[in-house]
Amino acid sequence: MRLNKKITIPARDAQAFDILSGDRIRISTPKGYQAADFFAYNAHSIDEWLSPPHTWIASTSVKPRPDDILLSRFRRPMLKMVEDGGDGIHDMLLPACDQFRYEFFGHVGPHPSCSDNLMNVMRRRGYEINVIPQPINFFTNTNVQKDGSLFAPKNIVKPNSYVILEAIMDTICIVSSCPFDINPNGWEINANGVVTELEVEI
Ligand SMILES: [Zn+2]
Repeated sequence: MRLNKKITIPARDAQAFDILSGDRIRISTPKGYQAADFFAYNAHSIDEWLSPPHTWIASTSVKPRPDDILLSRFRRPMLKMVEDGGDGIHDMLLPACDQFRYEFFGHVGPHPSCSDNLMNVMRRRGYEINVIPQPINFFTNTNVQKDGSLFAPKNIVKPNSYVILEAIMDTICIVSSCPFDINPNGWEINANGVVTELEVEI
């Protein structure tokens, strides 16, 4: 199904999109300051998924940049980063949030997460996945310091920031509005712990 309209992903929710080879997907944060967890699978074999660590080797960067080719875990080109309207504020290091991460930071009781979002949207398509791939976290502010430590300052991604990707193979792309609404030790994945919607255009 090819969509030529804008889709709003509600805060804390996720959606899957069929992005055929040559098609482009634009992901934006209308209100700003909102992390977008991004996953992609080969549409013809979901054993093959987008892998940031494999991508680093080829792109020699832990941030996605324009013209970078995003590789699968089999090191095959899946997508190309075409445009970055997010000032380079993206992350390829943090795993998707899950129930246990919220508990680790002191949350009691069930909490929505990007991992659960991914499993749910894939189930709707008939796939039971048992691995949560490393996402690309667009609009997420992390930095590696010279001594190797990871520094995650406040999310400063401006409203209407966006990225555009182009598919190199037929893919299923999943975009999750990260529900991270806590602020442990200054790690504001979403600024002030406020979670907002995302917009996607194909
Ligand atoms: Zn998340």
